Amino acid sequence: MIKRVYIEITNICNLSCAFCAKNTRAPRMMNLQEFEYVINQVAPLTKYIYLHVQGEPLMHPQIHEIMDIAAAHECHVQLVTNAAFLKDHMDLVNHPALRKISFSLQSVEYQKIDPETFMKPILDFIETASAVGHPFCELRFWRDDQMELPKTKQCLNILQHRYTFKDSGRIRNQKILPGVYVDYSNPFEWPAENTEENSLSGTCLGALEQIAVLSDGTVVPCCLDAEGKISLGNLFSQTLSEILSSERYTRMTEGFRNYRITEELCRHCTFRRRFSKQ
Ligand code: SF4
Ligand code: SF4
Repeated sequence: MIKRVYIEITNICNLSCAFCAKNTRAPRMMNLQEFEYVINQVAPLTKYIYLHVQGEPLMHPQIHEIMDIAAAHECHVQLVTNAAFLKDHMDLVNHPALRKISFSLQSVEYQKIDPETFMKPILDFIETASAVGHPFCELRFWRDDQMELPKTKQCLNILQHRYTFKDSGRIRNQKILPGVYVDYSNPFEWPAENTEENSLSGTCLGALEQIAVLSDGTVVPCCLDAEGKISLGNLFSQTLSEILSSERYTRMTEGFRNYRITEELCRHCTFRRRFSKQ
């Protein structure tokens, strides 16, 4: 049963973070008609949508209209943003469709901005959200050497000073305000055919419980398929139900149910262990 769908409204990003897969697909923005069609297809399966795979969603010039379409279909939206354009979209805090927003704070290292200026709209946003009780806010760091980078450290210091908390170095996340959390995730390796991992057996929630729709309509099993290697079909020329009954989708999901990996990219993916504990 599909529980969440990633919809890439754009694969264009203003940054080039070291920890990004950096897709090489043709740059593209989904237009409103395309997005509405995608939502019409997806909403009967799940109301939980994530407006990203690659790309920066707040760069989409019609992000507010997109959110309105999601609201009209009673969808709950999650956004992940590098916050570079947040100050132009502060009113999103009041949008009824926005369930959660995650700020990728380590992207500050790749932005031409000082940490205080970078954090200002983020602090305003999370404090408003916390006061009105909506949306959930996540402040994301990667728990690796990058946390020692100077601007990243300064962002964490700004938060620690303002909300009086400490990072023990071991916890996964901590609440700093009602509805506002700091998240320290372990980094992962993007799946690629040249990685050391190469396994024929295993399972994953990709395709079984989640799918992603890339900005050109290509449907892939998860948000890690940044290049669209596992193309299950294209929503701009097929219905979702046709794609979910295709031979490739059926082979892949049957495989995962029986602990068998059918796709080359999945054989080289370690992220599936987070789902399968194998
Ligand atoms: S902000 Fe996100 S999409 Fe953009 S380069 Fe960084 S990790 Fe990639
Ligand atoms: S194994 Fe990796 S690439 Fe394959 S569906 Fe799962 S997360 Fe995606």
